[in-house]
Amino acid sequence: MKIVILGPPVSGTSTFSSILSSKFNLLHISPGNIFQENIIKKTPLGIKAKKFYDKGLLVPDDITIDLIISRLKETDCEKGFVLEGFPRSIKQAEALDEFTKIDFFIYVNIPEWLAVKRITSRRVCKNCKRVYSLINVKPKIEGICDVCGGELIQRADDNPESIKKRFREFEEKTKPVLEHYKNKGMFNSILCDKMKSVPEENIEKILKIIRG
Ligand code: AMP
Repeated sequence: MKIVILGPPVSGTSTFSSILSSKFNLLHISPGNIFQENIIKKTPLGIKAKKFYDKGLLVPDDITIDLIISRLKETDCEKGFVLEGFPRSIKQAEALDEFTKIDFFIYVNIPEWLAVKRITSRRVCKNCKRVYSLINVKPKIEGICDVCGGELIQRADDNPESIKKRFREFEEKTKPVLEHYKNKGMFNSILCDKMKSVPEENIEKILKIIRG
């Protein structure tokens, strides 16, 4: 099964993708995570991506398309994947169409005011990338990942200025991707507009889409 999950910043796509990938035993692939790892390790890809990533701007299409399509070509992706945060531009959507046919496109819709509120409470495991919220998905021990014991960190781009920029990027470059999937008759969306909604509630909505 090949699932694409897309949403504005802090819409919960990371959490939903990791839950779905465990549930269906699919690989979770996220350009955001790959860029972040490369930035931390200061690889050539990380050095190129950092100047866009830190400003809340999309990394240019040629870099991102190459990165993701070559990752999807690896044999471990043959049985399926949850692709989170890609495609985020029409060029990326066309590149994905050319490479493979996905089974589900799911858009996670969240209002900007809620994203800004959530941003300061988000923590990510440095090791396994599991996402927590200090509002509604707290780790059992402060600062420590429940799953792998890794350190929980705040992303460099998780601040109100960056999130506003990332929303503008989303409006400008990613909204047309939603139209692209609407035109293909593949558009599904869930609305997350509650401050304290738990991931399970939204996962149920996603499972309804998948099970039909
Ligand atoms: P995310 O973790 O999905 O919020 O992404 C964090 C950052 O990674 C974004 O602000 C972009 O700089 C970069 N990024 C993630 N996905 C993409 C993509 N599909 N195209 C270009 N840049 C991306």
